[in-house]
Amino acid sequence: MLKISTVIMNNAEICFLSEDGEIEIVSLEAVSSKLKTNNILVCHAPYTAKKLGLKQLPRFDILELYAFIYPTKFAVPTINGIAKALGITPSNDIEEQAMLVHEIIEHLTNPTHLKSIKDIESILNFMAYQGQGWAWAPILLEQLGKQVSNISIKDLALWEKRPEWQDNLPPRGNYKNALNETAINDNLSLWLSSRSTRAEDRPQQRLYSQKIATAFKETNIGTNTHILLAEAGTGVGKSLGYLNPAWLWANQNDNQVWVSTYTKNLQKQLESELDGLIPRQQDEHDTLVIRKGRENYLCLLNLEEQVRTTQLAEKPNDRIAAGIMLRWMQETKDGDFSGSSFHGWLPTLLGYQQTLGLSDSRGECIYAACDHYKKCFIEHAVAKAKNAKIVLSNHALSMIQASIAVNPVELPSRYIFDEGHHLFDAADSTFASNLTLLEMLELRRWLLGAETGRKTRSRGLRKRLEGLIEDNSKAEDCVVAAIRAAHQLPNYQILSALKKGGHGERMNACETFFLSLRDHIKQQIHNNNAAQGLYGSECAPYPVPSSIIALALHAQNTLSDIRRHLLKLIDILLKKAEQERLNETPDATEINRLENLTTSLQRRCDNNLTPWISMLSQLETPPGQDFIDWFGIDRAEGKDSDVGMYRRWVDPMIPFASTLQSHAEGIAITSATLRDSQHENEGWETALEQTGARHFKDKGQTETFYTPSPFDYKSKSKIFIVNDLPKNNLSLLGKAYADLMIASGGGALGIFTAIQRLRSLHPQIETALTKANIPLYAQHVDDMDVGTLIDLFKDQQQSCLLGTDAVRDGVDVPGEALRMIIFERVPWPRPTILHKARRQHFGGRAYDERMTRLKLKQAYGRLIRSDQDRGVFIMLDTMFPSRLHDAFPDDVEIVKTSLADTIEQAEGFFNAD
Ligand code: SF4
Repeated sequence: MLKISTVIMNNAEICFLSEDGEIEIVSLEAVSSKLKTNNILVCHAPYTAKKLGLKQLPRFDILELYAFIYPTKFAVPTINGIAKALGITPSNDIEEQAMLVHEIIEHLTNPTHLKSIKDIESILNFMAYQGQGWAWAPILLEQLGKQVSNISIKDLALWEKRPEWQDNLPPRGNYKNALNETAINDNLSLWLSSRSTRAEDRPQQRLYSQKIATAFKETNIGTNTHILLAEAGTGVGKSLGYLNPAWLWANQNDNQVWVSTYTKNLQKQLESELDGLIPRQQDEHDTLVIRKGRENYLCLLNLEEQVRTTQLAEKPNDRIAAGIMLRWMQETKDGDFSGSSFHGWLPTLLGYQQTLGLSDSRGECIYAACDHYKKCFIEHAVAKAKNAKIVLSNHALSMIQASIAVNPVELPSRYIFDEGHHLFDAADSTFASNLTLLEMLELRRWLLGAETGRKTRSRGLRKRLEGLIEDNSKAEDCVVAAIRAAHQLPNYQILSALKKGGHGERMNACETFFLSLRDHIKQQIHNNNAAQGLYGSECAPYPVPSSIIALALHAQNTLSDIRRHLLKLIDILLKKAEQERLNETPDATEINRLENLTTSLQRRCDNNLTPWISMLSQLETPPGQDFIDWFGIDRAEGKDSDVGMYRRWVDPMIPFASTLQSHAEGIAITSATLRDSQHENEGWETALEQTGARHFKDKGQTETFYTPSPFDYKSKSKIFIVNDLPKNNLSLLGKAYADLMIASGGGALGIFTAIQRLRSLHPQIETALTKANIPLYAQHVDDMDVGTLIDLFKDQQQSCLLGTDAVRDGVDVPGEALRMIIFERVPWPRPTILHKARRQHFGGRAYDERMTRLKLKQAYGRLIRSDQDRGVFIMLDTMFPSRLHDAFPDDVEIVKTSLADTIEQAEGFFNAD
């Protein structure tokens, strides 16, 4: 047995287990005095070190060991979480949790299981680093009957063992097999009866499923896309309701449907909903495929470079991370960082660069020139998606794919957008243009590659073209000219001048433009914004001073130069691909490389260079009523971090509609909160506006459908508006949060409208909850991603969670773990320049109220997720206007009362049978 001191902690208690087996609950001060070295065992070393104020990371982290042995098996990052994953009985007592540690280690170091892991010896020897590296490595090797020894890089080339993917032709049958009512009903019955937890047969779900079939009627492309807006209350069974006709139609017609969501959580949920209901295969003939942006997947070339680099460098932590990532690469089926096979807590455990940083997030891919191309996770997902019947996508990717498609015939003709209330936000960012210093730095890095001596994965244009253009002097000239012009783009060194608030030496045209713009924005904010009450560090751009216009012209010339040379290069590459195709024995690899390169060059031109040039050239005249521009400065940790000009569509659903209309024949947009009303047949205007349905050519083709939730909200929930809490008294606000969370005995979610207030109140709330033995987790405070925080909150029914919008949108916690939602303020839209433009366009104050009601409706909807749930919704803002009451179900009583009475009534509600 491993003889070592163990420290187990949660947000409320710390337990110390000495190497001699003595156990005690200790204070923070007492545990610090016991820890003389880092030779201790913990669960989540960085989290523990931060909480305990340790200078060095503890050497033995049971979470690292778990991630190594079970890289793809879900576990919440706690002792109880690991115990549950291993089938060991968990305990709510922290002393018993400390005692579980040895049982867990015994399980994780079981020699029989270790021997079943392929190439484990090579990976462990790499991580052991001759005994100076990962503390667990020698122990695991000993269990295998081995000792630490040297290995060569060849032994670690485990990526070569991955299977190759095959290309496929997409399914494209004719659309003549229309759906009929009986088939839809029969298939839903079949699905409901074949689920392991037999679901209730609900008439609303059947009706909803029939209605979704509207999106699968025959139509004429480009003239009359069928659109269905379907609001179905929580508990109707939307997912199966729409997957049912989608699957039937795709299967009957050998065709494809894209089902798009906003959150990755829902994507995962849909995949598991269909598990066992439709025939699945592991290869390119799979019927169901999840598609995400490239930045979500592990790039094997990046992993290889990481392993090579860490093998040479004396950085034990990087080696540990590379070893665990090698294990994950071995076991994951899809290489998807945001999928169910990746531990969402690994980046905080091992470091961002060492985990998510191994994705192809910066467009560095060299496609067919890459040795791993035929084994690449990303390319595999793309190839599989061509052939799948159902593609689970996200809103952003669905829009991007549709807007960049070279051949619209290859795009899906039918879409279902779930979480339709988020379409507006997704379109807003997809069709945005950000002309900022950081964006231009990124373009320079993409064109020039790494310019420092440091080892980096940054490849640059020349490297990407290697082997393709050496015989073509015109192409060479284009590359030389584009690279020469790219030297006028901002360089990384300018960031230090930005942070310090000064100017750099020998600045180039673009650097001078951005730093002068920064000075101008600050002056404008100083002069005007206080009076206008504008939000943060932004100002209206018009009129622009002539000095900025002159600098903008230089920047514009640089960008136009680069664009001109890239467009010429695209032309040459396309012709070369065409010639290759005409060859008697065309080189498919070369054609593929040329096509991928031209696509990514074209994307840089279309998404960056063209809109930037247009923005700079129009600085003297506002962009017209469809767009809104502003200048802004981003700040991080009290310093300027980016500066630039931003352009948005006032109504981003206009480009959304025109992009989809070009190829989509049927679209169903669904959500539990599409309309701004609780009454049947009301509030559809908001849905038409927010989903873009009103911008499709033939609005007559839009149908609407509503079915209410089957839940009895009246008896299952209570709504309180506290009317005696003074506004702007932070100390009383913190106390109110703590008292309410204690009254609920945990299971409370505190939503803040400002990160700053969350951070400043967190210590006060945490101190009070710790005394009451209630663990507290907090977004923007705890160094963990939102998904992991929600998993922890869900797993510990007595815990509480603080967060902002992202937590509100990501929470789907049925049962006791979520029984109270507390809002500190009415979530009015922030008064930014962009918001002001939209407010004016969409109807003034009524628009603000619509948006706020929808947010409250969505938040309230998080409280009751199943017919067993009960919960309390509390608004601490005394300025809550009655115009917003429509956000809540009609029959639920809204009680305006004091904080003390709210606490008493809430306790009474929870204690009632
Ligand atoms: S093909 Fe591209 S994304 Fe895939 S492993 Fe190679 S470089 Fe990475």
